[in-house]
Order: sequence, then structure tokens, then C-alpha cells
Amino acid sequence: MEKAAQSVINWDGMGLSILEVSHRSPEFEDVVLKTQLLVRGLLSVPDHYSVLFLQGGASTQFAMVPMNFLTAGKKASYLDTGYFAQKAIKEARLFGEVEIVASSKDKNYAYIPDQFNIDPQSAYIHYTSNNTIEGTEIFDFSAAGVPVICDMSSDIFSRKINVNDFDLIYAGAQKNMGPAGMTLVIAKNEFLEQAKKEIPSMMDYRVFRDNMSMYNTPPVFSIYVAMLNLLWLKDQGGVSGIEKRNIEKAKLLYAEIDRNSLFYGTADAAHRSRMNVTFLAVNKDVEARFLKFAADRGIVGIRGYRTVGGFRASLYNALPLSSVEVLVNAMAAFEKIYS
Ligand code: PMP
Repeated sequence: MEKAAQSVINWDGMGLSILEVSHRSPEFEDVVLKTQLLVRGLLSVPDHYSVLFLQGGASTQFAMVPMNFLTAGKKASYLDTGYFAQKAIKEARLFGEVEIVASSKDKNYAYIPDQFNIDPQSAYIHYTSNNTIEGTEIFDFSAAGVPVICDMSSDIFSRKINVNDFDLIYAGAQKNMGPAGMTLVIAKNEFLEQAKKEIPSMMDYRVFRDNMSMYNTPPVFSIYVAMLNLLWLKDQGGVSGIEKRNIEKAKLLYAEIDRNSLFYGTADAAHRSRMNVTFLAVNKDVEARFLKFAADRGIVGIRGYRTVGGFRASLYNALPLSSVEVLVNAMAAFEKIYS
């Protein structure tokens, strides 16, 4: 962030701000190239995949995916695992038939359904790898028999993935990659060729692929800061280095939730997210008191989303283990006082 701040005033001693430099300048083209290479290196993206930087957030991808791939006479399959999966489903329905292969709505999305069939005629199956609000995560992407599309907005770069398991991955940048404003897409070139032909340019993945993500003015500052952040990630031992720390952070917090008599986790143990830890207090009084107790100790941003309630602690890459320790210690101290 210090480097980003400095570059807003004077980027690499050029006497120009990163905010005013032309996106067609060789210096910025170099940033785009470097960022793409960092994405490729960190996630071991094979050569026959394209790395694209788009705009409109992951929410635009909810529509762009079916606009490109839900072709006439086909249907698309979706796994309904929560709030953002539902949003993706809603948009897909505007473009054609949608089949929901399974849903965990029956238990307020506290688990990931693992028994379902996908119609082999489906245009694709859509997954949400990490359910940001409900605190569940998919760890097994077994062969689907149809193209696999995955919304990885809230767990990309947090753990190793096998890009070959997917035909298209998308992610809003703002969790583990950089500032909001850019959306990462990693897509198999062969799959992109299956897209419908008549698509507005700004919604056509191939237009971005053929123009180095610069068909129009790209989100210059977001891409630049993402590059700095991915350099930081590389310094942390890359994705496998950060994954070890993310496992450690999640283990520590879940262990306290399971031990502490005043709290309990909402997600099924096998599907607990390492990025978003959701938990409830035994009653509303404890919940309100702990929120205050935590705030008094500088712990903020842990209130759960209204559909789940309770608490949600997000443990994205940038959060150090020491912050999790502060929360865990506060939970233990609160238990001593309260019970
Ligand atoms: N999908 C998931 C899993 C998310 O967590 C979010 C945002 N929190 C979105 C989609 C929507 O992303 P955006 O705000 O970039 O449109």
C-alpha cells in the first residue's frame, strides 16, 4: 500500500502519477504483462488458458457467463450453495434454461451438496468455490463430464487449485488479489471458442483475449495494485506458502469455536470455509455482549450477514495469524467473564 500510495504521486520516478499515465504507454503495458505472468506463475495456469482482466465485478460475470455459453437449445447447470450462487442463477435464467443440480437451501446453506447428477448435454456446470456469506467451501472438484465454470471470488489465491479442472474461473479482485474494480478471468482457449458469436464487445471474452485486456481503458490502478499484491504473495512462498498459513488461521479459530461453550459454528465441519468463518452465540444476549466486548478490544467487522446472523470472521490472505489470536483470546476471556 505504501508503494501504491507513492506511485499515485510519482510512479517509479517518472514524474507522473499511475493515475494519469496512458494505459497505452509501454510502462503500463508492462504492468499488464507482469500481472498476467504473476497470475500464471502463482496458479500454474497452463499455456492453453487465457488470463483476462475485466471490469464489472463478479456480478457482471453472473450474466456474462450465460451470455457467452448458454447457447440456443442448451441448458446450464448450477449448484446452489448460497447467496452468490443464487445471484448467478437469477442472471442465467435471463438467457436460457437453468437446471439446479442440487441445493443446500434446506439447511440454510450450511453444507455443500455432494450427491448430484449433471446432464451430460449441459452447456456447463457452475460452482461457487467459497460461499462468502455462509462460510462453506468446496474442496473437491471431481470430474463433471461437462465444462466447469467456477466463481472463485472469495478464495482465489488462498489455496492451490488445479486450473485444468476448470474451463473458466472468475473472481472479483477485492478479496485476495487487489482493490475492487478489476475482475480476473482464467479461461481455456478452446472453451472460449464455443461462445456465441453475436455478443456485445464488452461482454465477449474473446475481445478481451485478443486485445490483451485493453479493448477499452482498463482499471489501471486496480491492475497495478494487484501486481504489487501478487508480488507480495510470491514473497510469502506463493499460494502454497499462504495456504499453509490460511489452514493454520482457520484451524485456530474453529478450534476455539468448538471448545468455547458460548459459541458454535454454523457450517458442517467437512465444508467449513478457511476464508469466512461463520459462527453463532448460544443466544442473542451473548451475541450482543460479545460484539461490544470485541469492539472494545479493537476487533471490528465480525458481524455475520443477516441471513446467517451471529458472526463472520474473514481470514483473507492479508490477515495475519496474530489477528486471529486476538479474536480467539477475546473469545476465551469473554467466556470466563460471562459464564
Ligand atoms: N461471488 C462471491 C463468492 C462473492 O463473495 C462476491 C462479493 N463478495 C461476489 C460474487 C460479487 O462480487 P462483486 O461485488 O465483485 O460483483
